[in-house]
Amino acid sequence: MIRLKAFSYFEPASLKEASEILTQHKGEAYPLAGGTDLLVRMKREAIRPAALVNLKRIRELNGIQSEKDGGMRIGALTTIADIENSTVVHTSHPVLAQAAGVLGAQPLRNLATIGGNIGRASPASDMAPSLMVLQARVATEGASGPGEREIDKVFAGPGSTTLSDGEIMTAFYFPAMAPATGAAYLKMGRRSGGGDCALVGVAALLTLGSGEARAVRIAMSSVGPTPRRANKAEAVILSGTITEERMRDAARVAAEEAAPITDMRCSASYRKEIIKVLTFRALQEANQKAQGGQAT
Ligand SMILES: Cc1cc2nc3c(=O)[nH]c(=O)nc-3n(C[C@H](O)[C@H](O)[C@H](O)COP(=O)(O)OP(=O)(O)OC[C@H]3O[C@@H](n4cnc5c(N)ncnc54)[C@H](O)[C@@H]3O)c2cc1C
Repeated sequence: MIRLKAFSYFEPASLKEASEILTQHKGEAYPLAGGTDLLVRMKREAIRPAALVNLKRIRELNGIQSEKDGGMRIGALTTIADIENSTVVHTSHPVLAQAAGVLGAQPLRNLATIGGNIGRASPASDMAPSLMVLQARVATEGASGPGEREIDKVFAGPGSTTLSDGEIMTAFYFPAMAPATGAAYLKMGRRSGGGDCALVGVAALLTLGSGEARAVRIAMSSVGPTPRRANKAEAVILSGTITEERMRDAARVAAEEAAPITDMRCSASYRKEIIKVLTFRALQEANQKAQGGQAT
């Protein structure tokens, strides 16, 4: 049996209290959400926290709400399963439910939270690409009070965020999707039935107008040290009418601008091939959904 090293344990009931405890421990304490990643890393002795601060008693971190302007708020402690099954998410920002539905296996999704998924800052995060194409904003609470930043500004490197000691993500805010917008998230793992991390994940979002893309965003995971946008591929889509050939060109450019590594799961060159296939398919799916005339 693997025994964890001794650590202090806190269950604060307010954000202020949680942030104060984390700040006092100067980087030696970690927020605990679902624990599906944190406890595994502790058991492997990859990290040895002096303290864990369980966020579960802080009520405002929970829940999914529609905003008056068509936007949506998801509390950081909301589970991946709740996102997968939420009517609000399916109605207003369904690509998030699509991403949640392919994250790990069902028992993991029942525990894992969106805050933990982003807080882990894994290059292979399944939620990050969709948050990026939806231009999510991350609300935080820390020693210097409340803050907010764009999702693209959260990731600093593999397993590392720009959050300061004591800064807790509280919620994710999603602007309303424009009319004639479609989005898709596609992932390839080692097992066809899901349950494992992405060899590559790609999200694409398209807003159409007169046969051309008015807006496009493509974001990828498992293609470098952090999840990232494919800006050059986006420029290809914006350069003219949307055709199958243009989508294939964009997919090729996405593979060129990515810098995946070779690891025990697959080679960098194989990952580049997957990026091409998934980017093309995600753009196709987003295009079809956008032509449906609804934000799907
Ligand atoms: C078998 C297995 C399969 C997995 N498959 C996948 C997969 O397919 N796709 C995928 O993306 N991930 C996968 N993961 C990784 C992980 O479980 C998920 O990323 C999960 O979403 C983490 O959420 P959690 O709530 O359990 O986080 P925790 O383990 O509680 O925390 C993770 C990190 O985030 C920090 N944190 C948590 N909440 C906050 C907050 N509100 N503010 C600031 N920091 C915070 C913690 O301090 C910790 O550093 C897998 C893990 C396992 C063990």
